[in-house]
Amino acid sequence: MKNTDPSPDGPIILWFRKDLRLGDNHALHAAAQAGRDIIPIYIREPSQSGNEPLGAAQAWWLYHSLKSLGYALGRLGSRLVLRSGEPCTILAELIAETGASAVYWNRRYDPNGIAVDVPVRERLGAKGMTVKSFAGQLLHEPSRLKTGSGTPYRVYTPFWRALEASGEPDAPLEAPDALAAPAAWPRGEDLAGWKLLPIKPDWAHTFSELWTPGEAAALERLEAFVEDGLSGYKTNRDLPATDGTSRLSPHLAMGEISPARVWHATRNLKDVPADDMITFRKELVWRDFSYHLLFHNPDLPRENLNRKFDGFAWMGNDSAFERWTKGETGYPIVDAGMRQLWRHGTMHNRVRMIVASFLIKDLLIDWRRGEGWFRDTLVDADPASNAASWQWVAGSGADASPFFRVFNPVLQGEKFDPDGAYVKTFVPELRDLPAKFIHRPFEAPESVLGAAGIVLGTTYPNPLVDHAKARDRALAAYNKIKDAV
Ligand SMILES: Cc1cc2nc3c(=O)[nH]c(=O)nc-3n(C[C@H](O)[C@H](O)[C@H](O)COP(=O)(O)OP(=O)(O)OC[C@H]3O[C@@H](n4cnc5c(N)ncnc54)[C@H](O)[C@@H]3O)c2cc1C
Repeated sequence: MKNTDPSPDGPIILWFRKDLRLGDNHALHAAAQAGRDIIPIYIREPSQSGNEPLGAAQAWWLYHSLKSLGYALGRLGSRLVLRSGEPCTILAELIAETGASAVYWNRRYDPNGIAVDVPVRERLGAKGMTVKSFAGQLLHEPSRLKTGSGTPYRVYTPFWRALEASGEPDAPLEAPDALAAPAAWPRGEDLAGWKLLPIKPDWAHTFSELWTPGEAAALERLEAFVEDGLSGYKTNRDLPATDGTSRLSPHLAMGEISPARVWHATRNLKDVPADDMITFRKELVWRDFSYHLLFHNPDLPRENLNRKFDGFAWMGNDSAFERWTKGETGYPIVDAGMRQLWRHGTMHNRVRMIVASFLIKDLLIDWRRGEGWFRDTLVDADPASNAASWQWVAGSGADASPFFRVFNPVLQGEKFDPDGAYVKTFVPELRDLPAKFIHRPFEAPESVLGAAGIVLGTTYPNPLVDHAKARDRALAAYNKIKDAV
């Protein structure tokens, strides 16, 4: 890329945000091409994740991701400067300390991120600084795709078609070999001092059973998935006991890998059935679609897209909510999902839909409480995908699953986890229950329960609600709002 930067030769501040990677990082690439000293910085902003402060699980991820980025920059002869505070203030300080004349970053598209970036750009510009921003968080800029009538999309399939028709995203850029360091480094903070890791208790100690944050691990994960997981994805992606999905979402959420790189890794694969490849790409594009919705509806995490739902009679049942969060609802597939969330900071997509439906429809608890819980506990918590998905399940969102589609947790379990392998992994107290009853322990005869060492109500909870009755109650509540205008 040709350097058109008018500033002479002051250092470039490279502001890392949700793009904690060196490869396919357009801001970094442009800075390296400019042939000037580069000062990479990460600013711990008062409100991190977009709409709310960074969740606890993602804070764990951020710690490890920043550490990994710091090492990777070190290998290029550079380093990562850490500072906390309002970006405007921090950048002004850094400019004064280093004589920097330009700030580069990759754009973010969540409302809080935009609310920070717009005034930063204006103030720096007013001081004569060169400010350059680049794309790369998404496959396509969320403002670019429009319906035939010039409005944003609200339905996924036409969005997918438009995105597909608009051409491939640019091929990913490789990481630079070296970065020019400034003569003197500005002061930085100590990552440990940010207290991103839980200590007493260290509830995240089990996260590392599954996860290795950082760009290198993201690239390895992508390669392994393309080699071993992509064939068969269409079927396997729905089976929570199978390692059938990419598990790239936390890496994508933190920008350790670009969606364009993921997209391009699925091209020209002779041994992968087209169906599997397209199904996978369509999932990836749900992420873009969620950002498209959030960009055009900044209230998405707080307000029903379908305003009819504003009159919905939610119940404020705290004890039921708490049992849901702990995985003690008495419905094994729901409990397994919620305990997977505790143990690994993630949950299989199929099970996310089941637990969300259970909270919203069986317990009649406002989707926003579930969204908030997920935001705090998911390592892949994402302001767009989380809010859009919760509204999708609630029926209040764009192109949403209709409210009357109430997941039956027993039938869903039997269909997608037929031998109960997923349940047994996360709800070990049911481990000895025969497959016939694994998703309906409350129907098992006493003799079967006894042989499996289960005492309902003691070793495993009785169902929190009777699903059939809860479903009727939910539909009755929905009927009260469905004709509202
Ligand atoms: C209630 C609920 C809340 C969710 N919250 C989040 C969230 O906070 N962050 C998040 O990244 N995903 C969220 N999802 C979407 C989805 O569950 C995860 O993206 C997926 O489980 C991640 O696993 P994977 O990387 O193995 O996905 P894969 O199946 O391998 O898919 C590849 C990538 O596509 C994207 N993707 C897949 N499905 C979706 C989807 N439905 N919506 C948006 N993007 C998708 C992800 O970036 C994912 O990494 C939520 C879904 C539900 C039902």
